[in-house]
Amino acid sequence: MNIHEYQAKRILKEFGAPVAEGRPVYTAAEAEAAAKELPGPLYVVKAQIHAGGRGKGRFKEPEAGEKGGVRLAKSPEEAAAFARQMLGKTLVTKQTGPEGKVVGRIYIEDGSDIARELYLSVLVDRAVGRIAFIASTEGGMNIEEVAEETPDRIVTIHVDPATGCMPHHGRRVAKALGLDGALAKECAGLVAALYRAFVEKDMSLLEINPLIVTKDGRLRVLDAKAGFDSNALFRHPDILDLRDASEEDPLEIRASEFDLSYVKLDGNIGCMVNGAGLAMATMDIIKHYGAEPANFLDVGGGATKEKVTEAFKIITSDPGVKGILVNIFGGIMRCDIIAEGIIAAVKEVGLEVPLVVRLEGTNVELGKKILSGSGLAIIPADDLEDAAQKVVKAVGWGTE
Ligand code: GDP
Ligand code: MG
Repeated sequence: MNIHEYQAKRILKEFGAPVAEGRPVYTAAEAEAAAKELPGPLYVVKAQIHAGGRGKGRFKEPEAGEKGGVRLAKSPEEAAAFARQMLGKTLVTKQTGPEGKVVGRIYIEDGSDIARELYLSVLVDRAVGRIAFIASTEGGMNIEEVAEETPDRIVTIHVDPATGCMPHHGRRVAKALGLDGALAKECAGLVAALYRAFVEKDMSLLEINPLIVTKDGRLRVLDAKAGFDSNALFRHPDILDLRDASEEDPLEIRASEFDLSYVKLDGNIGCMVNGAGLAMATMDIIKHYGAEPANFLDVGGGATKEKVTEAFKIITSDPGVKGILVNIFGGIMRCDIIAEGIIAAVKEVGLEVPLVVRLEGTNVELGKKILSGSGLAIIPADDLEDAAQKVVKAVGWGTE
């Protein structure tokens, strides 16, 4: 799960990181009032969307002006004018894709005088199973190009989980960032604070780009992006409260409320499967027969009738779905329960596309009998291959 820049900064501030003063706002009037409360004389007006590259991004609507989603205002009135231009408009950046994201809130921050822009992030390096700091002197809006063209300017520093973050990690990050003296000391403090925030809040990514050196020689977190491990969110209700539903796929949110793993994809065959391995095998075989899956949906090992019904509703509410394949292995889960769930769901939401069902495992005969006796137009399949061929044929795709 991701959060907004201003929310990430608030968390980092709690851990002692240097962050400028600022306020989130939802209207132009609030933007003006917020700026008036800040020291000034410069105010940064920042579109809050779950994507980076805002500074270089552009709005779809001409009335939002020629500038991007990060603008420097010289007065509270100008801050209000920028906020008015941006609110409700669609910002397209390298990270949003061509459809862009609608700006629903703005962050008004006290402007900083920048001497240097650096890059610092914390992530889990899966290759070595350790948390790593990634540091570069080439921070700011071109870090992707730096990574591609001059990767030697990016330094990785791993932290051994047995020792945790030590003073030498701070010194090494400072060196990688070209900082010495008082700034190196400040950097070491920041590194310790970021590490604590990362671990205590179960983050999966924390990116500070840029981390700046101000003209008066201090470090400051100018931009912050934080992502959290969704498997750990149950122990962070404070983080869950920061969820901005408008930034996420509504179907994925609904699925997570029912504890279903759902990922929307671009194809037209909706899949309902139990177990991630079976879900992947199902997606593979659909592709093998020339079609594309519309989603990945794992109802889990111990799904109930209600969960199956909800899963079915989620699949059918995607207008891209032209056919459905239910592929369930009843181990812990009984096939008759699945069959009842499917029937309940079809009765509730209707069935406007072909539905192929392949059941295997506990109570499979009973499950099949319940389905065939239901009077619904369900296409039964005997095994995975048969099921995939039938559903691909039913949607009129494929080579077979
Ligand atoms: P991003 O484009 O989404 O990564 O947004 P950032 O928050 O990183 O801002 C983009 C750029 O705007 C930064 O790299 C800075 O160059 C500039 N910027 C942001 N805040 C300030 C500020 O307080 N003062 C000045 N002078 N520039 C700023
Ligand atoms: Mg940035």
